[in-house]
Amino acid sequence: MNIAANPVIEANQTVYLKDYQKPSYLVDSIDLDIQVYDDHTQVNAKLVMQRQTAGNLVLLGRDLELKSISLNGKQLTENEYLLDAEQLVIQNAPDQVILETSVVIHPESNTQLEGLYQAAGDLFVTQNEPEGFRKITFYPDRPDVLSVFTTRVEADKKFPVLLANGNLIEAGEAGESRHYTIWQDPTKKPSYLFACVIGDLAVLKDRYTTSEGRDVALEIYAEEKDIPKCHIAMEALKHSMRWDEEHYGRPYDLDNYMIVATSAFNMGAMENKGLNIFNTSCVLADEEYTTDAAIMRVQSVIAHEYFHNWTGNRITCRDWFQLCLKEGLTVFRDQSFSEDLQSAAVQRIDDVAVLKAHQFPEDSGPLSHPPRPDHFVEINNFYTATVYEKGAEINRMMATLLGKEKFRLGTDEYFKRHDGQAVTVEDWIAALSAGSGVDLSAFLTWYNQPGTPKLEVHGRYDAGAQTYTLNFKQSLKSNAKYPNLKALPIPVALALFDQATGEQLVLNSEALFENSVQDGVYLFDQNEASIQFIGVETQPIVSLLRSFSAPVNLEFNYSDEELAFLLQYETNGFNQWQAAQTLLERILLNGHDAQIYLDAIQKTLPFVIAKDPLLASRLFDIPSEGYLGSRIDTDYNPIIVNEAREALLNTLARELGNFVKDTYLSLDPVAQKDFSQAMGVRSLKNIMLNFMARQGDVDVFDLAYEQYQNTSNMSERLGALKVLVWNDAPQAQDVLQDFYTRFKDEALSLDQWFMIQAAHPKATAETIAYLTSHVDYDLGVPNRIRSVSGGLNANPVNTWSFGVQHFIHLAQYLDEKNPIIGARLLQALSRWYTLAEPQRSQVKAKLEALKPQVKSKNVTETLNSMLSI
Ligand code: ZN
Repeated sequence: MNIAANPVIEANQTVYLKDYQKPSYLVDSIDLDIQVYDDHTQVNAKLVMQRQTAGNLVLLGRDLELKSISLNGKQLTENEYLLDAEQLVIQNAPDQVILETSVVIHPESNTQLEGLYQAAGDLFVTQNEPEGFRKITFYPDRPDVLSVFTTRVEADKKFPVLLANGNLIEAGEAGESRHYTIWQDPTKKPSYLFACVIGDLAVLKDRYTTSEGRDVALEIYAEEKDIPKCHIAMEALKHSMRWDEEHYGRPYDLDNYMIVATSAFNMGAMENKGLNIFNTSCVLADEEYTTDAAIMRVQSVIAHEYFHNWTGNRITCRDWFQLCLKEGLTVFRDQSFSEDLQSAAVQRIDDVAVLKAHQFPEDSGPLSHPPRPDHFVEINNFYTATVYEKGAEINRMMATLLGKEKFRLGTDEYFKRHDGQAVTVEDWIAALSAGSGVDLSAFLTWYNQPGTPKLEVHGRYDAGAQTYTLNFKQSLKSNAKYPNLKALPIPVALALFDQATGEQLVLNSEALFENSVQDGVYLFDQNEASIQFIGVETQPIVSLLRSFSAPVNLEFNYSDEELAFLLQYETNGFNQWQAAQTLLERILLNGHDAQIYLDAIQKTLPFVIAKDPLLASRLFDIPSEGYLGSRIDTDYNPIIVNEAREALLNTLARELGNFVKDTYLSLDPVAQKDFSQAMGVRSLKNIMLNFMARQGDVDVFDLAYEQYQNTSNMSERLGALKVLVWNDAPQAQDVLQDFYTRFKDEALSLDQWFMIQAAHPKATAETIAYLTSHVDYDLGVPNRIRSVSGGLNANPVNTWSFGVQHFIHLAQYLDEKNPIIGARLLQALSRWYTLAEPQRSQVKAKLEALKPQVKSKNVTETLNSMLSI
């Protein structure tokens, strides 16, 4: 029988965390033989398995053409196993099994970029997290099955590069025009970390010696013309290796570390053991072709994937519900790494900005879920801001509370206990608690509950008693799916300032983790509580949640003047920025006067520019229309938000007067002493250029044109291009054409060309039609789709008018071709329910109409969730 009478896995079935069961068989070793041909690939596998618990032998497999199967040397006939679209089941199998299968797959027509696929004419790569390996061969494709992999890769000699995980143990000819390699990975790993690469690529080589004296060969594979753009990534890799030794005591464990760049990739990068595969956007970095922001991102993603070697690979997840165990911890680690690369305050600002712009809205709407979800239909839909970014915040909270030394004792214990295992969030918290000697079990609640807590704080000064009291209250929006919400442990980093002098005070309160310090941390873990500071001589100004010590919505009734004070005197750069943000949000959403912000920023800026120009540039972050929209829960009208923001920008341009042009002309990126400062100066100059355009400065387009032409730095060139294009300057078409000619063979630069035009505030449906029918537009390359869709989405007024059709079309088209990306892009419309009528009903009707047109688990689950409000 070919189709199982009782399929165990049904399409669109919900999987629950509570149903977890151990696999019935473990795999001691797997021998894989992958033979790539032009029109098919043959995969032979030999699995040595042992029974662990009672039950059927279950092998997962999808889109595989089974050619032969044998068990302990005996061929199986069709009635000796059950086979359906998802799995192959053998009943009553013996305890010791050697299973051999031969299947045919079609990487040459795989558009989903999952499993083994042809990424470009001369490149085949794999992407197996979370469930891609089952599209390569029959296997218990789940992260709690760890095995030793030996891989033979065979292909035509037109593909000189044949890679897999581990050590190269053999290479040779396979007939006249073909050749092969054999790789062995000595470390046991789950199948989602398997990778192989077949292609014609150039390589950049280097070496690294670990703290243990191991000599590691480092290799980055990319197209020949891109090799010069791999040096920043290579330096970042060596830096990450050293950083993990110094900060976590974790040296690298193999003799080689390979990175392969491909332009056809769904996400940023993948941490396959010893053989990372990267989206080109996360590995190629060069001032001439990519922006400063992209260069920072490359370094952080290189670090992220490298850090996974310990947090993810050596210690992996028991099941996919535990995804935030590896991702939350690894993001926290890469964020800490990046804080050492540039202004630490700015790194924190940028990370929190991402959290607030993506995770907070996600967590307040229909897609809200706990960092560790308790059910899913399609796991690919749970690679979310909540799992990654909120997951990182949970680890940061515990690290803040413990301090460096105790946190290190905790992580040491985790690595000691669980190396080589597939574990859970509970295991992580238990090890961290045991190692540090601090019971952190209350933090489990953060993993299991959805929603952003509201933290309300009130301050009261008693002049007679010289005390300052803070009352704390926390609450969560009620949630029908999670009726028993518990109070969360919230570390509140805080400081007090003298109003008259601006000086920071020494804190005296028994409630603090450490007393008599300037930078205090209070752990607020009840529904309500209050703490008292003594010996406070005058009414102080309190600064709360410094460095954003917890992912909560803080409410404190500051006056605008007090926020202006913090903007000027806070020594914590993050809170300085936060004060500016709060002021700006009040101006934009509640109609407060802009003057107080203006006065404060004009007083503060000269000092900040001199000290940290990158931080200075962030003090001009005017909350985006998208972010402002996410702060509005009903009757949201994107046009009103756009008008308020435009009005503020015009006011600022007018009031800043000569400061704008003077600053533009006085700043010189070349004169800066490091990259962070140069980046800051470039950013400030571009901000000033935009203000000049608003001022109607007669020279602005000439200056922008000059900046465009006289630089070989992409951030400068793009900054000028944006001003010219978005203001419809006379030179706009000219520079767009010039940019295209210069960069038409540089995909990442060309992405920017698409993005800028899609992000034109006055873009129309015709603009998008022109871009999506351009010869260089390619629906097979997620980066290109994202450049147009992301550009369009930069203007919510456009997203919610002609953009709706764009995103619906994409989801429908990608439903079959690339459902992972289709489901993600559709989320651009997830806040439809906040819109004012009639837009709300119009968008809802379009989403409803899409439902019967889509089939994939990915898009279906996302659409159902989006409409479940
Ligand atoms: Zn990751």
